[in-house]
Amino acid sequence: GELARRSEAMDRGDTSELRTASRQAYLEKRKKMKVEEMRDEIVDNELIFDGVKMTNAEEREFRRKKEIYDLVKDRVGKDADAGEYYRMPEAYDAAENVDQAKRFAVPRQRYDDPEAAARDGKRSNFFSEQEAWEEQQIRKSRLHFGSGDGVPAGGGYELVLEDMVDFVKSTVQAGAEPDGEMDELAEAVDAKVTLQRELQNERKNLPVYKFKDDLLKAIEKYQVLIIVGETGSGKTTQIPQYLHEAGYTAKGKKIACTQPRRVAAMSVAARVAQELGVKLGHEVGYSIRFEDCTSDKTMIKYMTDGMLLREFLGEPDLASYSMVIVDEAHERTLSTDILFGLVKDIARFRPDVKLLISSATLNAERFSDFFDEAPIFKIPGRRYKVDIHYTTAPEADYIAAAVVTVLQLHVKQPAGDILLFLTGQEEIETVEELLKQKMMTVGSKIAELVICPIYANLPTELQGKIFEPTPEGARKVVLATNIAETSLTIDGIKYVIDPGFCKLKSYNPRTGMESLRVEPISKASADQRAGRSGRTGPGKCFRLFTEYNFRHDLDDDTVPEIQRSNLANVVLRLKALGINDLVGFDFMDPPASEALLKALEELFALGALNSRGELTKTGRRMAEFPLDPMLSKAIVASEKYGCSEEVVTIAAMLSAGNAFFYRPKDKLVLADTARQAFHAGNVGDHVALLNVYNAWRESGYSSQWCRENFVQPRTMKRARDVRDQLEALLERLEIEHCSGAGDLDGIRKAVTAGYFRNAARRQKDGSYRAVKSRQTVFVHPSSGTAELPPTWVVYHELVLTRKEYMRQVTELKPEWLLEIAPHYYQRKD
Ligand code: ADP
Ligand code: MG
Repeated sequence: GELARRSEAMDRGDTSELRTASRQAYLEKRKKMKVEEMRDEIVDNELIFDGVKMTNAEEREFRRKKEIYDLVKDRVGKDADAGEYYRMPEAYDAAENVDQAKRFAVPRQRYDDPEAAARDGKRSNFFSEQEAWEEQQIRKSRLHFGSGDGVPAGGGYELVLEDMVDFVKSTVQAGAEPDGEMDELAEAVDAKVTLQRELQNERKNLPVYKFKDDLLKAIEKYQVLIIVGETGSGKTTQIPQYLHEAGYTAKGKKIACTQPRRVAAMSVAARVAQELGVKLGHEVGYSIRFEDCTSDKTMIKYMTDGMLLREFLGEPDLASYSMVIVDEAHERTLSTDILFGLVKDIARFRPDVKLLISSATLNAERFSDFFDEAPIFKIPGRRYKVDIHYTTAPEADYIAAAVVTVLQLHVKQPAGDILLFLTGQEEIETVEELLKQKMMTVGSKIAELVICPIYANLPTELQGKIFEPTPEGARKVVLATNIAETSLTIDGIKYVIDPGFCKLKSYNPRTGMESLRVEPISKASADQRAGRSGRTGPGKCFRLFTEYNFRHDLDDDTVPEIQRSNLANVVLRLKALGINDLVGFDFMDPPASEALLKALEELFALGALNSRGELTKTGRRMAEFPLDPMLSKAIVASEKYGCSEEVVTIAAMLSAGNAFFYRPKDKLVLADTARQAFHAGNVGDHVALLNVYNAWRESGYSSQWCRENFVQPRTMKRARDVRDQLEALLERLEIEHCSGAGDLDGIRKAVTAGYFRNAARRQKDGSYRAVKSRQTVFVHPSSGTAELPPTWVVYHELVLTRKEYMRQVTELKPEWLLEIAPHYYQRKD
């Protein structure tokens, strides 16, 4: 329905409908999640307040508690009845017999690239029209920019200008006029001074520097302080250094500074180490999941918010810290929101600890309210004026439009670097490729364009590239995810291109399904993004949507992650910290009671909680793994199926990212053949990942082997690191090391023990139906099972790109569901 409608609209070139359609779907989903009104209505009729006057907040809290208690009591509390809520749909009885002979046939050569297929005289085998359509869309955008699309030799330059996107300048973001002071200072820097001296000067130029003394005084005076300042004012890099100088790291105490993103934690730590002239990992270090770059000497520790949350497990009062900075608080990530509650609590019984809550947005009153009216320290911003341009009509394909706009700016605008916001690694790689192709066709006619991608999984050694000064005469274009919105400041940006989308987690508490979706951003985000162009001088922002879209279609603010997440992980974490009263937990914005309830149900079904909602031994073990509950359950369960070695490998591979294979354009067939070999016998994607890892291990972890098999050595190395850590955890948790050499069903059962909720059954039309949510889903084209799709599958995750795809898919025997998850699935009599 929806997809067909969109594709029709796309064919007609009717882009406004496109945007409205996606917008509509988005709003409907949001509507469903707003349970507040509904809940109040129910509770209103029941509660008599006995003349006790309650404040609004108290009343809301009271109602919420009652509601959740009732729900939990009714559903999870009564052990015997728990099964009532878990019923297997009719589908089970009709389980088809799988034709084994056909299933385990030697796989045909796959051609998911039509060009390669055409070369080999084959038809590419897409399993649905939808997919063919998607491919066509991708090809369309390639055709526009590819080198072989009939552009007359030397005509490339013309084409750049032909494909223009029309913009209208509409608004101007207010800002101060450039003050000469900065430039003078910059000029005053003697070319011969050392890098260190230069760095120190740069530090003094940051807006926060002028307020150093006032800030330190305020911190001394108040236990909790909210800090607000424009992105790039030096909050993240400077404040921890000031605190260090002021003695907060004396007596072996540390300063923690949390970041919502791994890349930001690493990059900022590297910068601060450089500024202090120390080696990264010594006095200044960082800690992110699966990577601890700190030592006994470390005094300033940058870390992801999730890592600090984990530290509570080992050190509930964070005694080794004198100072906790919750940075980028405005991002309101799930972990940050939980941290708020926890740090507020420790501040009460540890008068010696100080809290800084730092945010880039001006409406900090919410933070102040939450932290018992903590004072707000404002660092006056330095933002120059930004001209905002909108497209005259909506863009059907924002990737294509973005590429054209980059080139257009590059050719026509005066010097200054470009920042383009994209939603993720895949998009960034596509755009990088398109830009490179395009630049190749125009040759030396235009100035050099230095393309710098930045996203979470970008290898560390490439991350620094975005900060390198642009060579004389060239222009830099940074292709970034949301990370560049406020977490990372890149100097020299004069132009921002904003397609208006980002990848957001979304969760449906009704079905318990979580997925990553590309969604329109909020007005607040759009303005933050625009602001990135006006940091060192007046800037320009090009929005790839219309002003009408901006005014009418975008929400004011992004919904906090806690209200659009599966809370199983959080609940497990809190339970492991001994916080049993989840309802009484001090949330800044409490999650929907349905979502809390679903999390409890999920953990109960996984065996992590008992019927009284208490942590079980399994649950305690699960909480120790820095993984999602489903994945940690698979590991914990693998002991029983005699295959912990294999499942730990699979878990490590799943955690290391999605970029294991690459397909060089001139060797597509070779690459695909190599990849198919790991799937031989239709073992399913999980076992294929295991095969990749084991083959690499047998090769002695060789890079040569990686090259021959078109496998990314970097991702493999990461998998190995993760695996080492998971293995150490097995040891500590006394989970037996065992190998079921060759018992693939054992491995599949262990996977199912974690992922039984993600079971799906094939339909006649080749799509799948998720067993619990009844949602229609598809096998991701990259899956080895796409060729001969099994009737029953268990999948690792859902991703929504052009449709809802299951990623990492393995065959499942339906009777396993009854055996493994009797609380969750029951045979329908
Ligand atoms: P805020 O946290 O207020 O947004 P930051 O402390 O992150 O500001 O940034 C201050 C300055 O430090 C910026 O000019 C930024 O470009 C610079 N900076 C931060 N990280 C790096 C890095 N890894 N390499 C080079 N410069 C950096
Ligand atoms: Mg910052």
